[in-house]
Amino acid sequence: MNQRLVLLGPPASGKGTQSARISAAFGIPATSTGAILRDELARATPRGLEAATHTRRGALVPDGLVMELVGDWIATRADRFLFDGFPRTVAQAEQLDLLLEQLGSRLDAVLLLDLAPEEIRRRMLGRLVCSVCGKLVNIGRHVASEAETCPQCGGVLARREDDNEEVLRRRLEVYEEKTAPLIPYYQVRGVLHRLDSAAGEEAVFACVSRVVEGGAI
Ligand code: AMP
Repeated sequence: MNQRLVLLGPPASGKGTQSARISAAFGIPATSTGAILRDELARATPRGLEAATHTRRGALVPDGLVMELVGDWIATRADRFLFDGFPRTVAQAEQLDLLLEQLGSRLDAVLLLDLAPEEIRRRMLGRLVCSVCGKLVNIGRHVASEAETCPQCGGVLARREDDNEEVLRRRLEVYEEKTAPLIPYYQVRGVLHRLDSAAGEEAVFACVSRVVEGGAI
């Protein structure tokens, strides 16, 4: 089994959806640094407020702050874990390697959810998040418009603050510049698995499951 995992991919490539499914199907504890930061902001903690000055512009949060969020979480889960949206820079990846080494662990697999820029744009501008249960909902797929309520719990749906045209452009640039270098980083370490996110949720989950179960895609 491959149970020490990272989900890598551009914004709106389905990392959150696949993370929830992997966690439910295989019982692997999952965390999303983006979700932790949104929660810290909702609670107006100093870390959340500082992070928001970066996330609002589509920029990455400084590596030091992100490593603080991750360090405690991984310490008790080094044998089975799934990161969604972390690492996002080579410096974070190097620090994760070091952390895992100190814990006598290592990464088994990095799942890259590949998606073309036009499709990323289309998905990002059509996605909503439930303000009550956190479910990710897509306009045109789960609901007809932003005015509807969450199909899972009836909560109010809202656009993520950082899902708008200008921030989107910046986030894509940041992905290319800072996060895409992780692809060769993990390729040379022999842990990278490339998946086509455009194939859709079910097809991607089938491939992901094969990797988790230790097989090839
Ligand atoms: P996400 O929900 O993963 O799309 O993350 C939303 C935002 O949170 C990103 O655009 C970044 O500003 C910030 N963020 C999340 N994870 C990281 C990370 N590992 N490193 C730096 N910034 C992050």
